[in-house]
Amino acid sequence: MDYTVGEILQFVEENDVKFIRLAFCDVFGRPKNIAIMADQLERAFSSGISFDASAVRGFLQVEESDLFLFPDPGTMAILPWRPQQGRVVRFFCHIRHPDGRPFAGDGRYLLHQAEGALAEMGYTAKVGAECEFYLFLQGEDGAPTKIPFDRAGYLDMAPLDRGENIRREICLTLEEMGILPESSHHEQGPGQNEVDFKYADPLRAADDLTTFRSVVRVVAAQNGLCASFAPKPLPDASGSGLHVNLSLHRDGVNLFRAQGEGHSREAEAFLAGILDRVEEITAFLNPLPQSYERLGRCEAPGYLSWSHQNRSQLIRIPAAAGPYARMELRSPDPACNPYLAFALLLRAGAEGVREKKALCPPCDHNLYTAPEEILRGVRPLPKDFAAAAQLARESAFVRAALPQGVVDSLLGGQQPR
Ligand code: GLN
Ligand code: MG
Ligand code: MG
Ligand code: MG
Repeated sequence: MDYTVGEILQFVEENDVKFIRLAFCDVFGRPKNIAIMADQLERAFSSGISFDASAVRGFLQVEESDLFLFPDPGTMAILPWRPQQGRVVRFFCHIRHPDGRPFAGDGRYLLHQAEGALAEMGYTAKVGAECEFYLFLQGEDGAPTKIPFDRAGYLDMAPLDRGENIRREICLTLEEMGILPESSHHEQGPGQNEVDFKYADPLRAADDLTTFRSVVRVVAAQNGLCASFAPKPLPDASGSGLHVNLSLHRDGVNLFRAQGEGHSREAEAFLAGILDRVEEITAFLNPLPQSYERLGRCEAPGYLSWSHQNRSQLIRIPAAAGPYARMELRSPDPACNPYLAFALLLRAGAEGVREKKALCPPCDHNLYTAPEEILRGVRPLPKDFAAAAQLARESAFVRAALPQGVVDSLLGGQQPR
């Protein structure tokens, strides 16, 4: 959807659009927006719409608090859950200082830069996310409970699975917005669901994930439910992961290749780069103290290792054909800021390719049941948020990839959502 500003203004005029939502995320990946009236859109494109950045946690101090939102034309979407007379259109925005400089705390900007660094080396990456979440009942006052919407398990069907209509509504709403979910299912935990997305350019994939989280919350609320993207909302049930599938391309060729053809050296170096840096960036992939209750059990990884099929590993290269050939990183959880997470992963992968890093041999043991002597040979993921934050603070790689202010805000800790 590459519209010109002129085409967008005409679309707004002809389609009974009354409100424009200028959307962005704070450094934690939480969605924010301002609504402007439709006749202000032209001004937003030309000179931006200001907001008080000192009131957005992790952005600016009060002394210099003006930032401007400039709508990104390629992200236009009608919000299907708002009235269709007097429509509402949403744009993700570029965030800039009054003098026009990009704001360094803008995750979209940081991800765009990371994509650019890879492009300069002659590569592009695609990202496909799989996002798990729980549906809980609302209490009488509408407050979230921890009572799951159903008691179904992995791939169960109705009537055990009570989420089928919710997932249906979520997927249809996403399609109306031009987003491509590929599949959805009931997950292992009671009330736990998953939606998987088609691979896309990284920035697009992060925008879509942000939209997805809003859509899930809206559809859940419309059905009298609460959605939770917390990594481990129920201590004794499966946690919620955000598996990140990555492929690497050069000259239109997927370097992960189809199974049986063998992976290119570059794809292996990309994977090796990520494996090398994953400890240092875990605080950004798993940003809550609660994230660490998920890792190491219920099919969530606990060690720094990779393999082809084995789901106890951090990274898998699943059996997949043609454009779907990829690596799957299984540690991130849906509480992360996808813009920062993807930016760090692309930079780690790019470093691997640049330095021609060698990939260690795969680990084909079940790491949940492996004997001590096997486990002694693999490094564990950081055991808690404090350990992950310490590794991130000491990391020259993180310092080079993210502005210090963003790192400080994120490592300061945050509340579960
Ligand atoms: N819920 C698991 C996790 O926390 C994943 C389970 C699965 O997708 N098979 O990552
Ligand atoms: Mg999945
Ligand atoms: Mg799953
Ligand atoms: Mg998966």
